[in-house]
Amino acid sequence: MSTAKSKYSFHQSVDYYFDKAAPITKHPQGLLDQIKVPNAVYQMRFPVKIGNDYQVIEAFRVQHSQHRLPTKGGIRYSIHVDQDEVTALAALMTYKCAIVDVPFGGAKGGIKISPRNYSTSQLQRITRRYTAELVKKNFIGPGIDVPAPDYGTGEREMAWILDTYLTLSKGDIDAYGCVTGKPVNQHGINGRKEATGLGVYYGIREAMDNAEDMKQLGLSTGVEGKRVVIQGLGNVGYYSAKFFQEAGAIIVGLGEYEGAIHNPKGLDIEQVLKHRKETGSILDFPGAKNIKPTEKVLELACDILIPAAIESVIHEGNAGQIKAKIVGEAANGPVTPEANEIMRERGIMVIPDMYLNAGGVTVSYFEWLKNLSHIRFGRMQKRFDQSASEGMIKMMEKLTNKQVPAEEIAKLARGADEIDLVRSGLEETMVGSYQQIREIWRKNKKVEDLRTAAFVNAINKVAMDYLALGIFP
Ligand code: GLU
Repeated sequence: MSTAKSKYSFHQSVDYYFDKAAPITKHPQGLLDQIKVPNAVYQMRFPVKIGNDYQVIEAFRVQHSQHRLPTKGGIRYSIHVDQDEVTALAALMTYKCAIVDVPFGGAKGGIKISPRNYSTSQLQRITRRYTAELVKKNFIGPGIDVPAPDYGTGEREMAWILDTYLTLSKGDIDAYGCVTGKPVNQHGINGRKEATGLGVYYGIREAMDNAEDMKQLGLSTGVEGKRVVIQGLGNVGYYSAKFFQEAGAIIVGLGEYEGAIHNPKGLDIEQVLKHRKETGSILDFPGAKNIKPTEKVLELACDILIPAAIESVIHEGNAGQIKAKIVGEAANGPVTPEANEIMRERGIMVIPDMYLNAGGVTVSYFEWLKNLSHIRFGRMQKRFDQSASEGMIKMMEKLTNKQVPAEEIAKLARGADEIDLVRSGLEETMVGSYQQIREIWRKNKKVEDLRTAAFVNAINKVAMDYLALGIFP
């Protein structure tokens, strides 16, 4: 979506950050140009029967970079979808995958509809037709381009995409890897649904573990007891709130499109969602104050602000009013370039989208690996690990002549399930990738902030691939 809130369109804003970081990497201009440009843009229009008439649906798939295959990225359903937005999001996917060492190129898709205006069966028809269009043009496949959920889509849509692809794929043994974010009982993976939110939590927790950085912000280390505001209660916002709450943070503000609520003593995320289900709105939640317009939630007093909905919500007009010390970009592109500079000058730490919300694609990668290997993670080694640990404990008991209580043995000797492995892989990824970016930020005076560091890291990794391909001598 091009926005009146910035002089840059969304795609231009991604390029703006790229251009800031590119000279720091010192790669030849031609190579930098090749990394920056979108490689393939597919705009389509197709008819779908809605009621007694046909409607022409406009949709896109952009493959930004094929330096690694498949390309990867979600599909969004929103009335604001346009080529600029999908291209910006595809570019972010390239950099995102590089930052978290997911061996894919970047892509994104979008269908220009307001899902609320369609019935389930109409949405199914639109999704299946979109998938068929992608198949026709060879724009989908486990080794070509692999969609996933994004704003306005979820497991249900991924299941429809899988089924349509399977119908058309004529016995390809790896066909289940054509899309990720599928329901667990339809070749999905445990832990994908909450992965982006959990990654947001791991990423902010890692940043907040650094005493030196927190001192600069005037904060103590750790997330426990910190005040958090979250804008957007979709999949990413909800799970981010849940994991922060579980870690002892206080959710003081929540925003949705109908309005926002504030309670400095804390809001229980599950209760808020229950209230929304019952009344159709988060407003009038017991003990909380209503806030209108909903954007005002961004300006509440807090330590951590998490925009988790759409792009450009923090702009020139409100960046000066942000009270948070840390802004964690759970959404893609929630901060305009103007706001980015204002907040940096004000000493606010912005943890950039292309790192912070990469948990989703990280677990998508695990799901794709599971689909290609045709086996659930943990199936081969769970029992073996369990009996090896039990054997060790028994041996220790024998040597020390002491007994370990049965419930302790059950905990200590447990073999890992798929969910344990997925979460540990995700945690390792978010922690390791943060440290890479922080080091680039702290070691180079020209690198002004974490976002520039993330771009430098991404550009270097993609450039390395192109150099290895021998295209650029
Ligand atoms: N749509 C998500 C994103 O923006 C996930 C992409 C994926 O899993 O491929 O990162």
